[in-house]
Amino acid sequence: MQEHVVIIGTGLAGYTTAREFRALAPEARLTLVTSDDGVSYSKPMLSSALRKGQSAAELGQAGADAMAESLQADVLTGVDVRAIEAQTRQLVFDDGQLEYDQLVLATGAEPLSPPFADRTRGSVFQVNNLQQYKGFRDALDQEGRVLIVGGGLIGCEFANDLAESGYGVDLVYPEDLPLSALIPGPAGQGLADALQRLGVRLHPGRTVESVDPHGEGIQAHLSDGTGLRARLALSAVGLRPRTGLAEEAGLEVDRGIVADRFLATSDDNIYALGDCARVEGYSLCYVAPLTNSARSLAKTLAGERTPVHYPVMPVTVKTSCFRIVAWFPEDPSRGQWQHDGSGADLRGEFRDGEGVLQGFYLTGKRIRERMALSREMPPLIASNEKA
Ligand SMILES: Cc1cc2nc3c(=O)[nH]c(=O)nc-3n(C[C@H](O)[C@H](O)[C@H](O)COP(=O)(O)OP(=O)(O)OC[C@H]3O[C@@H](n4cnc5c(N)ncnc54)[C@H](O)[C@@H]3O)c2cc1C
Repeated sequence: MQEHVVIIGTGLAGYTTAREFRALAPEARLTLVTSDDGVSYSKPMLSSALRKGQSAAELGQAGADAMAESLQADVLTGVDVRAIEAQTRQLVFDDGQLEYDQLVLATGAEPLSPPFADRTRGSVFQVNNLQQYKGFRDALDQEGRVLIVGGGLIGCEFANDLAESGYGVDLVYPEDLPLSALIPGPAGQGLADALQRLGVRLHPGRTVESVDPHGEGIQAHLSDGTGLRARLALSAVGLRPRTGLAEEAGLEVDRGIVADRFLATSDDNIYALGDCARVEGYSLCYVAPLTNSARSLAKTLAGERTPVHYPVMPVTVKTSCFRIVAWFPEDPSRGQWQHDGSGADLRGEFRDGEGVLQGFYLTGKRIRERMALSREMPPLIASNEKA
């Protein structure tokens, strides 16, 4: 009898795995289960869609029915999986159960709650999926300013996108420079300058303590006593892998669902990939790692046990005002940065004590050097062997 493969999640990790698996196993029984509407979309587009004039509806590439048809799979939408009964290989829903032979967890990550007292009614937004993006876009009002809380990748990209689209933006973050988890000082300074040239008001070294309703909008109180008025706020203070289901099922969890290089969890019949997973110690919430993972997992599910290969996959930051490609070193205490270039065209290399390249950043025209630098770096997970 055909094995039943069930995937929880229809984000990029779930659908990419399904597509790759279907190409290898045309006859296999495949079901995807999602608590959302199952619309296929590219999440990275959310933080650059405004300046490209794309609406939330236009970002949806295919609905759940069209995906079910093209994948020759059942796609169950609006279904929250409440529990995994690993012993009997069953998923538990509010109104039923589903048996599986092989289960794939592609449950993503959820935004951290805003770390401030939010006394507004619905004026503080988080954007981590298409529905949330639609709510945010519907609430945007060209007249008012937008307060962005958090100077990481998502905060900076939205600041760029909103400012380029004509909105007034205040960006508040506790660090001295934006994007400091991904790029060191000179590149962070270049980004800060470029965002300011776009008209973004930066508030480094500060946190938002509370947000209250004020007239048609909001008033935020910052840690240095400053008050900021805006139409609405976007909280972009980080993501947490969605691990609750796995934990309750007794799977090993450590800052993500623990998976080995075969994407296998501590249960032989359950796999994990994408934002919810920590693969061989790497929690990489980006598209390239999940694409690599999906390709190798599809082979394993189709009967050819295949380990994942993680080369260095530098992150492209979609700040069009200051283009950046970067890979931050695993351990910034073990080595040194060397910086080169001027203006918008910068290059930085991080080498360890043995002179091995462990991280880099490139901006502007220097981005064309990315392939050479990526190739020079040791892979994160090097494995071509079959089990
Ligand atoms: C604004 C933004 C911009 C980004 N830009 C980039 C970029 O430029 N480059 C890049 O590489 N990465 C970028 N990323 C990160 C990238 O988009 C994510 O790493 C990737 O989309 C994660 O996909 P996923 O399938 O793991 O998770 P998700 O897309 O979060 O999918 C999770 C799925 O699981 C389902 N689910 C969860 N729990 C349950 C349950 N209990 N029952 C049923 N269903 C459940 C959800 O409904 C959903 O379908 C960006 C992220 C954001 C938010």
